[in-house]
Amino acid sequence: MKQSKALTVEKELTKIDGGLTLVAYKHLSTGAAVSSMQQSKQYIVPLQQHIGAISQPLVKTGDRVLKGQMLAKPGDLVSAAVHAPVSGLVTDIKAHDIPHASGLSDLCIFIENDFKDEWVERHPLGDDYNQTNSSSMRKIVRDAGIVGLGGATFPSSVKQTEMNVKTLILNGIECEPYITCDDVLMREHAREVISGADIIGHIIKARQCIIAVEDNKPEAIKALQSVIDEDGTGFFKIQAVPTIYPSGGEKQLIQILTGQEVPKGRYPAELGVLCHNVATAYAIHRAVHHAEPLISRIVTVTGHGVTQPQNIEVLIGTAMHTCIEHAGGYTDESDELIMGGPMMGFSLNSDALPVVKATNCLLVTAREENPHKQHHMPCIRCGKCVEVCPVRLLPQQLYWYASSQNVDRLTEHNLFDCIECGCCAYVCPSEIPLVQYYRHAKTTIWQQERERKSSDISRERHEAHQQRLDKIKREREEKLRKKRELLKKKADAQADDKGSSNKSSKQAAIAEAIARAQAKKTERNKNKETG
Ligand code: SF4
Ligand code: SF4
Repeated sequence: MKQSKALTVEKELTKIDGGLTLVAYKHLSTGAAVSSMQQSKQYIVPLQQHIGAISQPLVKTGDRVLKGQMLAKPGDLVSAAVHAPVSGLVTDIKAHDIPHASGLSDLCIFIENDFKDEWVERHPLGDDYNQTNSSSMRKIVRDAGIVGLGGATFPSSVKQTEMNVKTLILNGIECEPYITCDDVLMREHAREVISGADIIGHIIKARQCIIAVEDNKPEAIKALQSVIDEDGTGFFKIQAVPTIYPSGGEKQLIQILTGQEVPKGRYPAELGVLCHNVATAYAIHRAVHHAEPLISRIVTVTGHGVTQPQNIEVLIGTAMHTCIEHAGGYTDESDELIMGGPMMGFSLNSDALPVVKATNCLLVTAREENPHKQHHMPCIRCGKCVEVCPVRLLPQQLYWYASSQNVDRLTEHNLFDCIECGCCAYVCPSEIPLVQYYRHAKTTIWQQERERKSSDISRERHEAHQQRLDKIKREREEKLRKKRELLKKKADAQADDKGSSNKSSKQAAIAEAIARAQAKKTERNKNKETG
């Protein structure tokens, strides 16, 4: 790949297509410092909390585990490890409902807490990371189970294999209403966030790091700036970005900062850029300086349906209702529980589900503000959805084709470029839950694709099996043919041998008869002479 230069940030930031200015409701949860919870009796740790292959269990029922111990290793290159959030006993490994838009269940490890808080043995690398090569550093990130904490949950170490990157963009944009976990993280742990960014910069050999923060987060910008001023290397630069939803989308943020669009179907690294979320940088700092795997994260528990909205440091695997209880419980008006924000989040049918690495927010809506309407009106072709789409799609067309399950037309209209930002659904006067249609269509297409692949694999297996049987049959027949040939040759040879011995005994008999006749003749001649 061609070496790229470090990108320069446009003096005039680029405006993204579409987008919305939304009422933020951020103040609900930023009034107090991040709180800690009492530990629970039980933790449920799903094995699939990331993009990629499910992780593979390393423990079994009945095992005692220590806090931070790896419970399951990555199942493939694109996968992530999971770790014990507490010390205790593995009581079960079985399918359980997990927080996912599909509503499906998946394999989980159940741990009963022994409340001893006994850590696994740890060996922090500390500042030695500066003398450690990129590949060893990526192994630390991988072994710590770190994934993109902005919501994407893509394994971070895999992302860091891009080696043509000159500019690291640290994404501190938190543009969805209500969510404030990254804002409070930057305010309270600016030093650790910058330290994590420095480690990532070392891994990918970046020349500069741009920390992008929305202009509605002055306290976070101030906290980060004071650490950067102390650093004084010139590697870091903070860029305030106008508060427009969805500026935090990876491709949107790159466009805002650099004026360049990541080409369709390509990766940011092709522009010499790599994006990481601020919480991911913080997790990497914890892994390198404290040898702590990703066993907790900050979760914003908020909304008008919860009594004391706040940010909480939550251990992965904690039951969600415990977080709600810690935040004072539900209000009388509480209605729907959503994981994520009102735009990109999805509704949960139970609060007994475990908090996972992707749980940035638990939003409890009040009855009158429920964003997920059950009934909608027909599309009136007003075109408002087209105006706000940041990816320049045709949302109403996608809606038609998703409703009629027209896979070909959905593909032609780039369904898979949809970032599910929800802008179209937000402005739709008919209140059509457009994103739900797109998610459902994507899931159906993936499912069909999986089934097609699996039937192709079965067919290929059957054909290969048949070919093997045919080959065995051919080989057996060939062997038999050769054996028959050999036997025939032997029989012929024996027959030849017999034939030639008969011939020679006949010849001997004739010779004997001739000799006898000759002898008789000689005798007769003798007698005549003497007689
Ligand atoms: S905004 Fe709603 S009603 Fe208007 S065109 Fe789009 S889908 Fe149809
Ligand atoms: S959800 Fe998809 S189609 Fe709708 S505005 Fe966002 S990117 Fe466009």
